[in-house]
Amino acid sequence: MPQISPELLKHSVESLDIGVFILNKDMEVQLWNQFMSTNSGLPSTAVVGKNLLELFPELPQRWFKKKIEGVFILKNRSFTAWKQRPYLFQFNHNRPVTGGVENMYQNCTFIPLKDSAGEVELVCITIQDVTDEGISQKMLEGTMHRLEESSRTDGLTQLLNRSYWELCLARECKRSVRYKSKTSLVMFDLDHFKAINDNYGHLAGDEVLREVSEAIRLTIRDTDIAGRYGGEEFGVVATDTDLVGVKLLAERLRKSIEELDVHYEDQSIPVTVSLGVAEYDESFSSHESLIKLADEALYYSKEHGRNRWASYPLDE
Ligand code: GH3
Ligand code: MG
Ligand code: MG
Repeated sequence: MPQISPELLKHSVESLDIGVFILNKDMEVQLWNQFMSTNSGLPSTAVVGKNLLELFPELPQRWFKKKIEGVFILKNRSFTAWKQRPYLFQFNHNRPVTGGVENMYQNCTFIPLKDSAGEVELVCITIQDVTDEGISQKMLEGTMHRLEESSRTDGLTQLLNRSYWELCLARECKRSVRYKSKTSLVMFDLDHFKAINDNYGHLAGDEVLREVSEAIRLTIRDTDIAGRYGGEEFGVVATDTDLVGVKLLAERLRKSIEELDVHYEDQSIPVTVSLGVAEYDESFSSHESLIKLADEALYYSKEHGRNRWASYPLDE
């Protein structure tokens, strides 16, 4: 087998596009390749013979010492992926699109270098730049998160869409049976909304829906769950709330929407809603029964003058 000259070997290590450096038991640097010089800004002449932890106090000292000691004692190689620890050295990266990744992500390998007796004399550490993988992963996570959000929310109002809102309602109904708590519901519908579209235009109608949704968000509690049930129909699940409490919520919603000052192209658009409330009972077959009863109360409000609320049972 042809022998490789030490010069050629040194040149090869120097020109690798991964970081390579070697430490002795006292953490003193024995070799520092070009990749390490370029990225740290410290040439090998400034590093070799010096204690690595003193040169780079920002390194995770305890973790790093344990890692190196482990290799000396166990005589096995060890690996750290960027997913466990994004980077060892705080190096910059030059990627134009960062996806929020500020530093070079690194995979590190710790390799024992043994003497002829099989004892570990030195540890060689390699640093692989895996920033691209980190950026792709971050961007993928961001996209997944946005997809998940958009599959739950309604684009116009940013409230929960009907299917996800109904899922939440069903969950709350089941939870209230299990924990013997109360769940109530407010369903409401904009009054004469067709006339708003006809008089001010569809875009003005959209603006009304957006502002009503914002008023809903500001009126309800953090634990209440608001959704867009249909075109101009909304639902709010009032968690841990009985019929007395949900009537108060209905009145607060009615009032805050009546007091809205919706402006569209210099025109002021009056908006009111009619509401119906009901409380869940464990004798109901499902959450759909609760929607049905709140809806009945809502239509009672429509028939009895609008801009008001009614509760189920209707004779209360
Ligand atoms: P009521 O007081 O009885 O509820 O009368 P209404 O006019 O509000 O009820 P109707 O069901 O007759 O009309 C609802 C209107 O809501 C018709 C529909 O075009 C409009 N609408 C539904 N979704 C949207 C939307 O996303 N944007 C706009 N601008 N209008 C919508
Ligand atoms: Mg309506
Ligand atoms: Mg309607």
